[in-house]
Amino acid sequence: MSFEGKIVLITGASSGIGAAAAVYFAQQGALLALVGRNAERAESVAAKIRDSGVEVEPLVILADITVDSERIISETIEKYGRLDVLINNAAFGVPGSIETTRIEDYDAIFSTNVRGTFLLTQLAVPHLLASKGNIVNVSSVCGMRTFPILLAYCMSKAALDQFTQCVAVDLADRGVRVNCVSPGVVDTNFHEITLGFNKDSVEYAAIMDQYANIHPMKRIGQTDECVNAIAFLANENTAAFITGTLLTVELSIVERMFISLI
Ligand code: NDP
Repeated sequence: MSFEGKIVLITGASSGIGAAAAVYFAQQGALLALVGRNAERAESVAAKIRDSGVEVEPLVILADITVDSERIISETIEKYGRLDVLINNAAFGVPGSIETTRIEDYDAIFSTNVRGTFLLTQLAVPHLLASKGNIVNVSSVCGMRTFPILLAYCMSKAALDQFTQCVAVDLADRGVRVNCVSPGVVDTNFHEITLGFNKDSVEYAAIMDQYANIHPMKRIGQTDECVNAIAFLANENTAAFITGTLLTVELSIVERMFISLI
């Protein structure tokens, strides 16, 4: 799917789905602005792009979307003069129910997953209106399904779903599309970070087994499967008449996920 010459800004590009998207979009001819906080991981994504045969270096912006939105947009525009696609992918979660979620964690989750995304999008909109570009938000099935151990994260993703649909309506008549990909469980660093289990541990493997069982296809997803959905929605040839869509990849089979943390 060609993105030849398109300027694509990806947050959370230093890991997981965002990193896979960075490599894919680079291979399809996009010129990239990649946002992440961890310099080593961000550099390894840039190296992967190089190793895949792409000669154009991405712009790597080491930044935190909770505080650096203005710099992210200004560095992108300074370098490329334009923005065609914004992929709001950076997010994280902390386990907790109504009884156990610390308010500091709630605030941090909303600051990144909702407020940071809101502000970055707001600053990107004038450039997207100028280019008739589009936005793809990376949400989660947790925005649509209940998940008892991830209250604040689920709430943040429900907010992102509504954000997607409201902004889609705000911008549709001026030629800017806004869509959302909502992954099920995907094999990335996310669960190690969120749940605090080492990827090689027995506990981690047991939880992944439980996760596999909540999906109709009885497996967890791969980053490339999410990237294909992001690219489909971001591309004018495949999705020109699609806006406000929440595309699940793939939806949980159950409305309420009862996963035990061992
Ligand atoms: P990873 O943990 O592998 O990657 C998360 C990325 O977000 C990292 O690049 C991280 O940067 C970045 N990030 C987090 N907070 C900030 C911040 N404040 N400022 C800048 N960057 C930040 O997770 P995934 O790839 O799995 O997650 C990508 C998206 O997919 C998220 O929106 C997540 O909610 C969603 N998702 C993931 C699922 C899964 O099962 N993996 C399921 C459903 C949705 P750094 O490494 O530099 O800290």
